Parts: sequence; structure tokens; C-alpha cells
Amino acid sequence: MKRISHWINGSIVAGTSGNTGKVFNPATGTQSAEVDFASVSEVDAAVAAAKAALPAWRATNLSRRAEIMFNIRNLVQANRNEIAQMLSAEHGKVISDALGEIARGLENIEFACGIPNLLKGGYSEQASAGVDVYSIKQPLGVVAGITPFNFPAMVPMWMFANAIACGNTFVLKPSEKDPSVALFLADLLQQAGVPDGVFNVINGDKVSVDALLNHADVSAVSFVGSTPIARYIYETGTKNGKRVQALGGAKNHMLVLPDADLDMAADAAVSAAYGSAGERCMAISVLLAVDSVADALIEKVKQRIPNIKVGPASDTANEMGPLITAEHRDKVASYLAGAAGEGATVVVDGRENAPTGGFFLNPSIIDGVKPGMRCYDEEIFGPVLNVVRVKSYDEGIALINANEFGNGVAIFTRDGGVAREFQLDVTVGMVGVNVPIPVPVSYYSFGGWKNSLFGDHHMYGPEGINFFTRSKVVTSRWPDPRTSSVNLGFPQNR
Ligand code: NAD
Repeated sequence: MKRISHWINGSIVAGTSGNTGKVFNPATGTQSAEVDFASVSEVDAAVAAAKAALPAWRATNLSRRAEIMFNIRNLVQANRNEIAQMLSAEHGKVISDALGEIARGLENIEFACGIPNLLKGGYSEQASAGVDVYSIKQPLGVVAGITPFNFPAMVPMWMFANAIACGNTFVLKPSEKDPSVALFLADLLQQAGVPDGVFNVINGDKVSVDALLNHADVSAVSFVGSTPIARYIYETGTKNGKRVQALGGAKNHMLVLPDADLDMAADAAVSAAYGSAGERCMAISVLLAVDSVADALIEKVKQRIPNIKVGPASDTANEMGPLITAEHRDKVASYLAGAAGEGATVVVDGRENAPTGGFFLNPSIIDGVKPGMRCYDEEIFGPVLNVVRVKSYDEGIALINANEFGNGVAIFTRDGGVAREFQLDVTVGMVGVNVPIPVPVSYYSFGGWKNSLFGDHHMYGPEGINFFTRSKVVTSRWPDPRTSSVNLGFPQNR
């Protein structure tokens, strides 16, 4: 059985805690590996390696750091097919989707290649007589990233690219469900010239997460995962004096107005609801259809579902893979089982004729969904599209704004005025206008509102640079020593 261990100070380190987890191939349902779960002392070793590497790394000049980021970019690009295969074998997503994830992750490495420019500070000459003031951005120190199963390549890249380019050293705790990509990336980073200790990987469960949250030498924690854990990470990390950004779960609505192009809206709803088997934090899970077009829209979505090819990634014709685990597949199926009892109607039941042998579920639609039903109130994180029928734009936006989550949202309309009003009013962090999955490009930042994000910084882009640095302001004077005197008054500029 393949064993997946840790990466500490530039090499693979076998776990010694005796605790392990099982890694499956979700397309076959068979176990493919055993992953070591770190003990507190193993986390300590990774943090110690990161701490030891910090002084030299943060002193490394910006040109060299940029050069290394370019090297990482080229190595990830050159190895993308291998990464996609590895990713798919543990996550289940089809290869084209895995390659898309890697490409979106790469954008963040490319952004970090501009680190000399991104770290520029400000300078004010002659703020007072003979006094200049300037601000600089400095790294935080040892920082940690804790990532979810659904983007095992992209989400680590969201974090480590900016973190290390800014001069921090990094400890990554990937999801225990698909940990291999993190170790492969560690090896590529080493080939790219990242010094030993600057990037470390600790595999594990709550024990290792808690060890990072409680470690005095960890300055900041960047987290992506479900809302209950995000809230826990934020509360525990900040209580321990750390800077924390913790991105949580989602319930993304797509509001379709009567003037929308219904074929375009149906294509978008199907792509965004069922891509990656709905296991994307930006997946559309609620179709808000204004009454007059609801029947026509549902019909168009229904017509498209039989054409979706569901199956293992080994057949490149397949477009949608399995869910991550048997337990998760069963949980998603339970929303379909419970829908009728709550007064909703399962219009397309993905439990029927799903491929066997792995953790598969076919695309599903539940119609007549309302707030208060379990399938509406909870994040399903599977290929289930809930349809909520609303009377008007106003009812639609009121529903979206009342939702506890605020990650992504989309409006489909031909009316620019309404789209603009929507952008002004909606309490969601990432908005698509006729775009169903509005994941920001790497030079903007990614983050939801409400229970989809705890903390003040969004992820990656300019906010990522701010998250991984702290600013310092220097007030400087090089006076003629002959003019120096004692003055107990408060420093004034006039
Ligand atoms: P998860 O919260 O179960 O796990 C995320 C990480 O936290 C993993 O590394 C895991 O090992 C760790 N963890 C799990 N339980 C823990 C505990 N009790 N204490 C400490 N650490 C713990 O999430 P997941 O199932 O891996 O990922 C899916 C979730 O992530 C969904 O809710 C999805 O919406 C969310 N997500 C959000 C974003 C975003 O940007 N907002 C992006 C991707 C995924």
C-alpha cells in the first residue's frame, strides 16, 4: 500500500505517530494509500524547520525570489499532466477539470512573479524639515495554510505563492482525503530553488491543525474549508494572537430574470451546478427562477442532463466524476431522499442509474424548494440543483440577502440597469453578471461575505499580499548634528 508522509526541511519524513488515514480512489471505491497523521511533535519539527529557514529567506533579494517564482511556474506548467492524473486519482474529478484547476492555480504563481513590484512601499520626502517618512511591507514569519479536499492543487497555490514570495516560510496542512499533490508540489518547489525549510507539508487531522493554531511560532493561518471549521479556525487562531483568514462554505444562487436568454442560462446552470460533481465552493446550488420562466427553464435544464457523461476520469469522454467519499455520496443522496417529505419534488433523481463501483451520483434537480427545507438551508456540496420559484427580482434578492452564506452569486438578464442594481444591493462577495462561476482573476482577490469568510482579508491577489505582510512606517532624519537639541514637546510638523 502506498504511504504518504510529510515533507519537512526539504525531504520526505515518515510519520511516527502511529495514526494514519485512508486515501481512496473515488472512481473505483478502493483504497489507494495510507496517509500519516502528524503528532504535535511532528508539527513542531515542521515549524522549527520553517523558523530556521526564515532569516535567510526573508533576506533573499527580490530578483531572486521572482526568479524562483518563475521557475515554479514553469515546473508546474511542465508537470501539469502528471499533477492532473495524481489529483484525479485521489479526488475523482475528470482530467480536463483537474487541468483547469491547475491553470487557475498557476495564475496565482504568475501574479507572485511580480513580487518586486507588489512589495513597493510609499515614500514622502520632507514630511517635516529634514524628515522623510516611508512605509515598507515585511513578511510575518512562519505562516500556515490549511486546505480542503476539493481543490488540492489550486487552493495551496492561492496561499503559498504570495506567502513565500513575500518572504515568509510556510507549513501546509492539506486535506487528508487527497494529500499527494501537496508533496509533489513540494518537490517541484525544491527543484525551482526554494531553499529547504521554506515550504513544508504536514499531513494530518485535527491534531495537526490544533498544533498549528496553538504554536507560538506560527504568525498567521490561511484556511479554506467548511463553515463550522472556518469559524473554529478563526476563533482559535485569533484568540492565540494570530492573523487569520478563514474561508468557509457556500450556497450560491443564480437568479434568472424573465428577459434572460434561457438557453444560455440553462447551459450556465448545468455547467455550474454539475461541474466537478458540485464539489466547488462556487458551484451554483440554487436556481432562483422568476415564475413566468421557471417551467421553461427547468425543462431546458432537464433536457441537458441526459447528455452529461458521468464516470471515471480514465475515460476522457466523461465530464463529471464521483464524489469524494462513500459517506459524502450518501449524505448528498439523503437530501434527495428527504425532499418529498419536506414538500419539494425531485424532478431528476441522481440516485437512479448512477455508475457503480465508485462514489457516483448522477446530476439531480429538486423543484419547489423553499427556505426552511434541509436541502435549502444546508450546503449540499454535490450535483444537486435546487429550484426556488420567486415572483419577482425583489423576492429573489431578498432571499439571497437573507442567506447565511455570501460566497458567489449570479444574475442572468439582458437588462444592464437591473444588473447594476443587483451589484449594488447583493450581500455576496463575488458577483457574476451572466457569468455563473465568477471566480476572480488572480490580480483581484477571492472571498465571500457573511458565513463564507471569517477575517478581514480576502484570499490571493492584492489582499493576499496584504495578508502575508505587515507594514512598517519609518520616520527618518539625517540632520546636521550641530542642530540637535533636547525637546520634550510632542513632535510637530509645523
Ligand atoms: P473541511 O472543513 O472538512 O476540511 C478543511 C480542512 O480542515 C482540512 O484540511 C481538514 O483536515 C481540516 N479539518 C477538518 N475537520 C477539522 C476539525 N474538526 N478541526 C480542525 N481541522 C479540521 O472541508 P472539506 O470537506 O475538505 O472541503 C469542502 C468545504 O470547503 C465546503 O464547505 C466548501 O464550500 C469549502 N470550500 C470553500 C472555499 C472558499 O473559498 N470559500 C473553497 C473551497 C472549498
